[in-house]
Amino acid sequence: MTTTKKGRVFSGARPTGRQHLGNYLGAIQNYVALQDDYDCVYCIVDLHALTTVEDTHNLRENTYEMALDFLAAGIRPDESIIFIQSHVPQVTELHTILSMVTPLGKLTDLPTFKEKAREQPHNINYGLVGYPVLMAADIVLYKADLVPVGIDQAPHLEFTREVVRSFNYRYNTNVLIEPQMKSTEVPKVLGIDGQQKMSKSLNNHIELAATPVETQQRVMQMVTDPARLRRSDPGNPDVCNVFSLHKVFSTPEQVAMVDVECRRAGIGCVDCKKLLAENINAHLEPFRERRTALGKNPQDIWDILHVGAGRASRIAVQTMAEVRQAIGLP
Ligand code: SF4
Repeated sequence: MTTTKKGRVFSGARPTGRQHLGNYLGAIQNYVALQDDYDCVYCIVDLHALTTVEDTHNLRENTYEMALDFLAAGIRPDESIIFIQSHVPQVTELHTILSMVTPLGKLTDLPTFKEKAREQPHNINYGLVGYPVLMAADIVLYKADLVPVGIDQAPHLEFTREVVRSFNYRYNTNVLIEPQMKSTEVPKVLGIDGQQKMSKSLNNHIELAATPVETQQRVMQMVTDPARLRRSDPGNPDVCNVFSLHKVFSTPEQVAMVDVECRRAGIGCVDCKKLLAENINAHLEPFRERRTALGKNPQDIWDILHVGAGRASRIAVQTMAEVRQAIGLP
């Protein structure tokens, strides 16, 4: 890592397998860009995944596929650290220590806990309650200065800051760093249903690694302006998710053309979608080429993750030595 960068960024992502356009526009693009200015630590949080994932047979494959997507998208492993959470076990030790300065009521009051408890009433496990403590442990173990978070994650980061203050106060130390929020505008990318956020579990997603033909098929299934029933009806691009994606993937001239022609029925939805699919495919072509090339040697991806874990471990060991000393553990 260079010393000329502005600080250290940490971000964790659950191993959800092949990534989709929503992941790409909401997080991965930002991860790639942050590398220019910050030392970046990107962690695939497999332990966090265990709080909700009961069937783990896909965990390894999902981890691999996600890492492959991150690397193909432009995460630079020589510069940034990319690794798997459970490969650096110090995080669980710090999690235990931080749990001693965390009031239980604070955890059970968090909206995210309540939501998860509603979603999986049969599996409200101890780890689920402690999820934010493990997240705090991740962030402070690697002495992150900044954490990129969307507005919905802001309470979790504030929670981490409180935990750090409690720890430093109780043990009269300053070994743990209070991370700052790097507020990022996370665009809400809707799925092909045009209703809900793009998500694999809702099967309304478009995978980055899909073939051009598969991408076109998914785009052709997209829900458009529901009031436009016939080709001759004028449409309203402002309520159409196809248009939202044109704004991301098409040229300004094409966006302006769709904006005008849709409103006067000068373009049909089929042609409009074909144009979008072409532009998405053109945008993703370099990514897909890199992904194919990287995927030829799966062991290389695991090696990158293991080297990353080694680099992360060096930071973690140092932090834990300081933490143990601050507490006075014998
Ligand atoms: S022409 Fe395009 S922007 Fe207009 S409703 Fe159809 S798909 Fe949507």
